[in-house]
Amino acid sequence: MYDANYLISRLHAASVGQETRNFARIPQRASMTFGELFAGAERMAGALVDLGLEPGDRVAVQVEKTIEAIQLYLGTVMAGGVFLPLNTAYTTAEVSYFLGDATPRVVVCDPARAEAIATVAGAAKVMTLDAKGRGTMEEAVVGRGGFTPVARGADDLAAILYTSGTTGRSKGAMLSHKNLASNSEMLRDYWQFTKSDNLIHALPIFHTHGLFVATNVALLAGASVEFLARFDADQILEAMPRATAMMGVPTFYTRLLDDPRLTKDRAANMRLFISGSAPLLVDTHEKWEDRTGHRILERYGMTETNMSTSNPYDGERRAGTVGFPLPGVEARIRNEGEVVPAGEIGVLEVRGDNVFQGYWQMPEKTAEELLPDGWFITGDLAKVDEDGYVTIVGRSKDLVITGGFNVYPKEVEALIDDMPGVKESAVIGVPHPDFGEAVVAVVVPEGEGTSTEAIASGLVEQLAKFKQPKTVILLDELPRNTMGKVQKKALREEYAGLFA
Ligand code: AMP
Repeated sequence: MYDANYLISRLHAASVGQETRNFARIPQRASMTFGELFAGAERMAGALVDLGLEPGDRVAVQVEKTIEAIQLYLGTVMAGGVFLPLNTAYTTAEVSYFLGDATPRVVVCDPARAEAIATVAGAAKVMTLDAKGRGTMEEAVVGRGGFTPVARGADDLAAILYTSGTTGRSKGAMLSHKNLASNSEMLRDYWQFTKSDNLIHALPIFHTHGLFVATNVALLAGASVEFLARFDADQILEAMPRATAMMGVPTFYTRLLDDPRLTKDRAANMRLFISGSAPLLVDTHEKWEDRTGHRILERYGMTETNMSTSNPYDGERRAGTVGFPLPGVEARIRNEGEVVPAGEIGVLEVRGDNVFQGYWQMPEKTAEELLPDGWFITGDLAKVDEDGYVTIVGRSKDLVITGGFNVYPKEVEALIDDMPGVKESAVIGVPHPDFGEAVVAVVVPEGEGTSTEAIASGLVEQLAKFKQPKTVILLDELPRNTMGKVQKKALREEYAGLFA
């Protein structure tokens, strides 16, 4: 009965006949079976249709992470709608932009924000869902029967995810049923997920990583999840002995390494630790292997492309690289229109069923980044080594141009990160009256006694003069967003006046 809906039929297939098996174990709440998950999603779909949802309509959702929010995602797609999750950190002013741009039929938000959201929701119906899964959305599903998913094909939209960034410049990446299904099916097979897996799911579900990589891969495999509302070292370490896999951002790994309860014994049942969404330091990779005996598998992707590269499941997982283009994904690295030889840096482009349909109502932006022959210009600088492993060097907009010379922040960061007394670093370009931009290194020290002079002098022998930081700044921690990405934009703004 799910057959007519391209994505839902696939997400459902692995659990047919397994309805009584457990899908989610949730702290302080009753567990949920696969049968309950899909029955609840059907009720959500019925409620949305009664609210006036028609195929192709958007459902904007800014709620805490709950299993009901997952049912709302599945229910939206079942009803033929387009799921539009929003970061819970966005302010009403920011949400106002997204609602104005996407004109959803329904907005679901936390009850505490309903009044404020109603002022910016336009014609959309405002519904609520709180951190316990309660609210008007829950009331709307009570007493409902089953729902036959609306027919939707491979090319119909299933979701719009706004790329990170705030207000005006955020772009809505349109993702089709096939974009999502094909990528997650391939990842399930590549990473060998099966019904026997139990995945630690502690990522937010307003982002591609937690929503599509973690949730869709688990459903497509018929695997269960340890469903955690957020990163919580206690809960993750408690779940680890009965789990088999974890997907995390690099900060998950660094924070867990800070906890003495992370041991080989505790990780003995685990078969796979995956990291992505931001670069994993080689040092973290090595420390994790020492402590747990596991080599973290690092992969690379983005909202617009789903997952594009991954280190191998069986072969060598090379620290500092994001592995090879995934099956069905073509990748090339170009500089000024020409594909560059191995070892040289250029902009990474990818093509395949994983690549999105374009930016919502932004044909010019789409045309700039998505070429007519299907190649998508990721904006990430990368290089590929002789063995085919891809390394991400940074975002092209983070490239520093000083006195006319290009400086790749990653090259300088890697040297600084290797120095004793350094935890991590971020290299940025800030306006400079003579050089255009000046290289500035922001460094997080480890332990006592790290000095800016020692860092600066440690680079003298290793780097050409133009690559050496004009200034080194010590900070307690780098600004990061919820996905663990270092916010270089915030650093550039903070230090914009350094050389004024
Ligand atoms: P988002 O669309 O929020 O998922 O952000 C995608 C961006 O995150 C990519 O374009 C990369 O710049 C970065 N990214 C994702 N995974 C990795 C990784 N494993 N290593 C380095 N950067 C990554």
